[in-house]
Amino acid sequence: MKNRLKDRVALVTGASSGIGEATALALAEQGAKVAIAARRKDRLEQLAAKLAELGAEPLLLVADLASEAEAQRVVKETQAHYGRLDILVNNAGVMYLEPVAEADLGRWRRMLELNVLSLIASTQAALAGMRARRDGHIVNISSVAGRVANPNAAAYAATKFGVVGFSESLRREVYKDNIRVSVIEPGMVDTELREHIGHEASRRAVNARAGEMRQLQAEDIADTVLFCVTRPDYVCINEVLMRPTDQER
Ligand code: NDP
Repeated sequence: MKNRLKDRVALVTGASSGIGEATALALAEQGAKVAIAARRKDRLEQLAAKLAELGAEPLLLVADLASEAEAQRVVKETQAHYGRLDILVNNAGVMYLEPVAEADLGRWRRMLELNVLSLIASTQAALAGMRARRDGHIVNISSVAGRVANPNAAAYAATKFGVVGFSESLRREVYKDNIRVSVIEPGMVDTELREHIGHEASRRAVNARAGEMRQLQAEDIADTVLFCVTRPDYVCINEVLMRPTDQER
């Protein structure tokens, strides 16, 4: 089935790689117009070329979303460019794993700002337009780490538990405006995410764990986003917890 998202406008944050990139392509393949935001301009340009071929009329937004103001700007620019925003996929995130006792708090602050505050800020910027049209869907990418708290992942878990809590509170604030909120909680996905872990031993440990299983692929999460946003508008998929078959916890 094609064109299930014809005339819909989406913004995907963190679209320069991994889950965000796959999601932008999946939405475009279904006919959506797609705005893409992240820091790496070259990677966004490569993706924009593919999106343009699919007819998605991409809007490329280079932004450091750790800043709340930037998170709000990308939403406002999307609305101004296309005249509306129907689907906001809050995907940009980092995963800095390290034990609490040794943690670099500056690094953790940046993670909290990006994974939580930025997601809150972009959501806030999207609400007025969605409310006025009584139409909109916000998809937040949390993690299994938003449901299971593992050692070495304390602050990452705090961000992802935070996203789960925020999403459910938000859903209950906006459901009467016909705005849907979905939160997706993937297990281990084969992306660049782990490459940015600054704590050597933690990076090695999580890579070793990933090597023991058949990981999810970014496209598997994109498929799930697509499933959520293509339901009839009386159906709200609230939460999806998905792991590799080989992942126990
Ligand atoms: P990637 O590292 O491939 O993607 C992360 C994306 O976030 C990139 O596009 C990156 O773009 C963007 N990003 C990072 N920092 C910033 C910033 N300061 N400003 C703007 N954009 C930023 O990893 P994934 O695709 O795996 O991660 C996507 C989401 O999925 C994250 O929220 C992650 O927590 C979540 N997730 C991932 C899992 C996994 O195992 N991979 C499991 C569960 C959840 P750029 O660097 O160009 O700015």
